[in-house]
Amino acid sequence: MSIFNVGFDRQGTAVQVRFQKGGRSGLGPELDAIKAKRPLVLTTPEQVDQGKDLLDTLAGRAAGLYTRATMHTPVDITRDALETVKKSNADCVIAIGGGSTIGLGKAIAYHTDLPQIVLPTTYAGSEATPVLGQTENGVKSTLKSERVQPEAILYDAELVRSLPVPMSVTSGLNAMAHAVEALYARDANRLSSELALSGLRAFVTGLPVVVSSPDDLVARENTLFGAWTCGAVLAQVGMALHHKLCHTLGGTLNLPHAATHAIILPHATAYNEAAAPEKLAPLAAILGSDTAGGGLFDFAGKLGAPTDLKSLGVAEPDLDRVADLAVQNPYWNPVAIERRAIRALLQNAYDGVRPETGVTS
Ligand code: NAD
Repeated sequence: MSIFNVGFDRQGTAVQVRFQKGGRSGLGPELDAIKAKRPLVLTTPEQVDQGKDLLDTLAGRAAGLYTRATMHTPVDITRDALETVKKSNADCVIAIGGGSTIGLGKAIAYHTDLPQIVLPTTYAGSEATPVLGQTENGVKSTLKSERVQPEAILYDAELVRSLPVPMSVTSGLNAMAHAVEALYARDANRLSSELALSGLRAFVTGLPVVVSSPDDLVARENTLFGAWTCGAVLAQVGMALHHKLCHTLGGTLNLPHAATHAIILPHATAYNEAAAPEKLAPLAAILGSDTAGGGLFDFAGKLGAPTDLKSLGVAEPDLDRVADLAVQNPYWNPVAIERRAIRALLQNAYDGVRPETGVTS
């Protein structure tokens, strides 16, 4: 077992991070630290069983189970969950799930200031950030507030073991995307770069083991460590072209979050590598490749990740619309964001062509 006290929550107390296989059956330290007596457990409909198992371990101490967490935190679900919080007299929330469930816990905390304990079951890393993305009438907005930062995180490798291998791979690549963009972020610093490289190493060594032996709890815990460090850098520095493209594609075409990240990452990396080769060289070395973009493409392909937007059901004519939107209000990026080059990048991602560094049209 490893326990870290990192950062600070809104009361100025360190956020407690525990890595322990099977730790979910002993949440006493986390509950006692926040003086909680009636936690409401949150899950998605697909993870009800994990939620029920957790309720059993809380031995009558829980306020109940809410199972309607949904991708991109729709505000109507949040309103419904807030009713349950009120009726059940809950004094904290426990999110057991991926970014969707954690997002609901953050939204509840934002409205009620209730403390949160998070048990991540994917690698998305939302638990490590003070960011909440929400959707209303199909429009996604993001806010940053220390009110949404969880008080305690428990990484229990046994929970992520049930994440199917294809989702483990895309979720891991989603986490790696935070770290890749952190390497060339405008506000990068030595600590954020070291954290990013540590997360990238954890996934480059751990994900192939997860693919060949999904029940290997050492590899599962190592990749969860990667999820945490990649989430931590997402909280510290600004994201660039890759995240802008994924948000645009996801928002416009309603594509699956992690798979979109997995497909775009090698292309966005190659686009930026021309301007930031020295910042991406350590990643190329970790991947055993001449370039970071090409190395990521090969790595994703070997793990069986989707490598083309076509396979997600994207229609080729949609690429024009996505390119138009992606160049509007661009995030800061090390390379100028030009419509023609972005359209070419999207075409390569659509066709699943291995990207060449600096070749954008
Ligand atoms: P998810 O939480 O939507 O999970 C995808 C599916 O997998 C769900 O059906 C879920 O129930 C299931 N699942 C999750 N873990 C499982 C497990 N161990 N075993 C079996 N099934 C499991 O997916 P995600 O990629 O973790 O999260 C995506 C969401 O998180 C998006 O809305 C994204 O915007 C958000 N996100 C937010 C941040 C942030 O900092 N705010 C960071 C990353 C992602």
